Amino acid sequence: MITKTNSFKKYFVTVFILLFAIVGAQKKFTIVLDAGHGGTDEGANRKYDDIGYIAEKNITLDIVLKVGSMLEKNKDFKVIYTRKTDVYPSLTERTNLANRSKADLFVSVHCNANTRTAPYGTETFVQGPDQNKTNLEIAKAENDVIYLDAQDRATFASYDPSTPESLIALKINQSKYLESSLIFGGMVEDNFANKDKRLSRGVKQQNLHVLRMNAMPSVLIETGFISNYEEALYLASEKGKQEISESIYNAIVGYKKVMDKKAGRTAPKEPEKPKEQPLKNDFRILLMSTPMKYNYGDPAFKGLNYILPVKENGIYKYYYSVSNYASIRDANLKTARDAGFKNAYAVGFVPNQALNSGFYTLELYVGKDKLPSDSFILKSLKDVQRDKLNGMFYYTYGEVKTLEEAVELQKTLEEKGIKNSVIQKTVK
Ligand SMILES: [Zn+2]
Repeated sequence: MITKTNSFKKYFVTVFILLFAIVGAQKKFTIVLDAGHGGTDEGANRKYDDIGYIAEKNITLDIVLKVGSMLEKNKDFKVIYTRKTDVYPSLTERTNLANRSKADLFVSVHCNANTRTAPYGTETFVQGPDQNKTNLEIAKAENDVIYLDAQDRATFASYDPSTPESLIALKINQSKYLESSLIFGGMVEDNFANKDKRLSRGVKQQNLHVLRMNAMPSVLIETGFISNYEEALYLASEKGKQEISESIYNAIVGYKKVMDKKAGRTAPKEPEKPKEQPLKNDFRILLMSTPMKYNYGDPAFKGLNYILPVKENGIYKYYYSVSNYASIRDANLKTARDAGFKNAYAVGFVPNQALNSGFYTLELYVGKDKLPSDSFILKSLKDVQRDKLNGMFYYTYGEVKTLEEAVELQKTLEEKGIKNSVIQKTVK
């Protein structure tokens, strides 16, 4: 009997260990570290009398290996390198490796150069629709066709960034990951500026081959200008490379925390940081006011999620995110501006404020034609109101006093399958 119980116990212990091993393995956050250039592709390079010859490909490899060894000590991470030596994987190979490994994040490390010696500082690029002409030089250097191999050329041949079709394809490919890429890029640049006291030129959007095909949040970090003497000295130094690596590593750890929180994967009892006092108002970021109605996921939102449309006097206002903490409000505003909403600003809302005269309702549908009585909306809901204005039919539903109630009502409609309703504020 005793032996039997023991073997039974042993069996269970083994099963548990196996289960933990499987769960543990699944939980790992996979990072692809891409050291830019390599092999015959030296990347940016300069020769200085005292520093000697420095090449981007060597600095990027040093940094990536440092970041990787820090991550490998942390059991939450799995690290994949596009190269660990002085070789040149093609851009397609780098992307394929990242996509095959279903990575959670792709980090490409580079050094900048300019024909002038004055420019210095760091910048992080994400693949996005908000193109800026001043970034074009970087795109040219990092996309340099001389270094594309035959497979790369075939992959990118159909792609001409100047045509609207390509822009649409690009938006579809990358918009899903833009918000996450911006969040991570922001963390990297914050660390460079605040921890390392360097000049951050910010997070920018550009068409970069090495990012474009990735099916995951992806950034390209320009860690400094080789063409600037002071910065070349820093990039070539052990101290410089160590600081840069730590900043990237800390951003990866911080980013994973944010993603875990979003996915509800954090343990409920996490030690709290020193508490920030909540503000009296809720803050939403106003992205744009327009007579146009956009549905969720429209490229007009430049990849941002958590959009709240509110219609007032015939104008749609699109708000992004909500928070009553100053730090989160500011971070959301930064994300919106980085996404390309340069004129975005934070708007305060008094929580649960009932309208004195008027109400909130949900606009379900607008069209030139009446909805048929067997349409999904009319079959799913009773008491839908129909109005006609300037030849258009407007269908609205519900009447509540506060914005919060309207958001709740909108949620219940979404659960019923009625999507893309707009909260309409009607003041009498
Ligand atoms: Zn580069």
